[in-house]
Amino acid sequence: MATKYGPLMGEMTWPEVRDAIAENYNVLLAVGATEQHGPHLPITTDVILPTAVAKGVAERTKTIVATPIYYGMQSKPLSGGGQSFPGTTSLRGTTLIALVRDIVGEFVRQGFKKVTVLTWHMENIGFTYEGADLAMREARNTDSRVLSIDSAFGTVDKKLIEPMFPEEFPGWDVEHAAIIETSLMLALRPDLVRLDRIVDDEAERHPPYDMIPATPDTIPKSGVLYKATLGTKEKGEKLYEMLVSGVTKAIKTEFGE
Ligand SMILES: [Zn+2]
Repeated sequence: MATKYGPLMGEMTWPEVRDAIAENYNVLLAVGATEQHGPHLPITTDVILPTAVAKGVAERTKTIVATPIYYGMQSKPLSGGGQSFPGTTSLRGTTLIALVRDIVGEFVRQGFKKVTVLTWHMENIGFTYEGADLAMREARNTDSRVLSIDSAFGTVDKKLIEPMFPEEFPGWDVEHAAIIETSLMLALRPDLVRLDRIVDDEAERHPPYDMIPATPDTIPKSGVLYKATLGTKEKGEKLYEMLVSGVTKAIKTEFGE
């Protein structure tokens, strides 16, 4: 059943929120990041994409979409370019844990029985889980439950994603501002993609460890960690449908509708 409210919680009134709680709606909190996504994608790509997935999910389940968390954990230089790019504005891990803990705790206090936390930005994983877990420990005698999704891609069958990559799958750590995110943005927000700036790039070295401070040859100058030019609108449309289906299935499996 599609959401009859919102679906953006921030555009609802309090009586509408009260009714959604009474009707046992799921509230979905997307947790993104504000960080560089190459010369062609906006710095809130990690907020725009999970919010779009959440809206798709709200068309298929009784879900309202909470105001997302726009800031996230800093990226490691090897998986997001790190803090050396203007615009990248990050939280420390303890702040992110506290934010998720407070917001999830507030949903539970209001009476939401179904809370979904959908993390997009890879480095948020662990911190979002910790925040949700702490909120639930504090809530104690509640029958509210939290569905914590580390990555929307994790809900999609790998066999469906692999054909999206003409060559070998490069690995999630370098899939930053590259094929997947460029494709999704071309499908969902083409007005924000700087087509004339799309580049393929990679770091001179990609070692299996981190140096603090990072050595410059491990950070691509453009901020693109792989082949952004392989992104297409068609791939983005297919990926979007997979992600919405995957997250919808998780919600229906755990929460029933
Ligand atoms: Zn991203």
